[in-house]
Amino acid sequence: MSIDLHTHSTASDGLVEPGELMGLAAEAGLTVVALTDHDTTAGHGRAAAALPPGLTLVPGAEISCYVEVDGRSVSLHVLAYLFDATEPAFASVRAQIREHRATRARQMVRLLADAGHPVTWEQVSELAAGTVGRPHVAAAMVEAGLVPTVSAAFSREWIGASGPYWVGKWQPDVWQTLSLIRAAGGVSVFAHPYASRRGVTVGPDVIERMTAAGLTGVEVDHPDHDSDERRRLRGLAADLDLVTTGSSDFHGSSKPQGLGAESTSPATYERLVAAASGARPITGPTG
Ligand code: AMP
Ligand code: ZN
Ligand code: FE
Ligand code: FE
Repeated sequence: MSIDLHTHSTASDGLVEPGELMGLAAEAGLTVVALTDHDTTAGHGRAAAALPPGLTLVPGAEISCYVEVDGRSVSLHVLAYLFDATEPAFASVRAQIREHRATRARQMVRLLADAGHPVTWEQVSELAAGTVGRPHVAAAMVEAGLVPTVSAAFSREWIGASGPYWVGKWQPDVWQTLSLIRAAGGVSVFAHPYASRRGVTVGPDVIERMTAAGLTGVEVDHPDHDSDERRRLRGLAADLDLVTTGSSDFHGSSKPQGLGAESTSPATYERLVAAASGARPITGPTG
């Protein structure tokens, strides 16, 4: 079995349409793939409808949230799997995050335009078919010739954290997020917890508190973790009895990692499925 539990489609900031993503997953030899777009389940229907024989879809989402550490707010991503997407409390928080993301993207465009940089909201909204994120603003900046690459836009000179055109986004705190996922029957995995190259990370104390609040796993094998980060995280997971996952965080050609670049063991996958009650994995046609 080849299991990849973290991918993005055009329903958020991925470049591949959800149905097409299922075809690519099968071609890459995956047997299980989770669709985990940022703060939305909008791609699930199209992915399920396009499932090729032999591929199982785990419906999920990657939730943006924050935790307060020593009076400072640190952004985190929590992967939610197999929750009931119609459960109103969690659905309404996902919708709130998306609305604030759109407002904040407009503010970043306004800051750029006011400084004389030719980026428009029309351009950004055309690039974003679902949840709007900084990658869409960055792509518009590349189109406008302001920066050579999407990555370059994420620098401190542009829309990187605390950059002149960066605007923070509203997001729920991690305690509310974990509780919403659980109440909707889902299971949660902390995405890329020690990825220091992405920005400020939390320490083991926060992961221990998250475990007490219902966290089931941590994503250990992730392209943004180096070998030391993986080793420390694996040790902590063993101490806290958390499952450890491995996933590509596939976004399409905007990031180097292909589907299945990292993978999760069947035993871990079974444990996640057993812990969830809000939805079941969806299997492609047989025979
Ligand atoms: P947002 O959630 O809108 O603030 O955007 C953050 C997203 O941008 C992350 O989830 C990453 O997928 C993407 N991202 C962050 N840093 C970079 C980078 N240096 N290059 C390309 N994409 C990035
Ligand atoms: Zn993303
Ligand atoms: Fe993430
Ligand atoms: Fe992701």
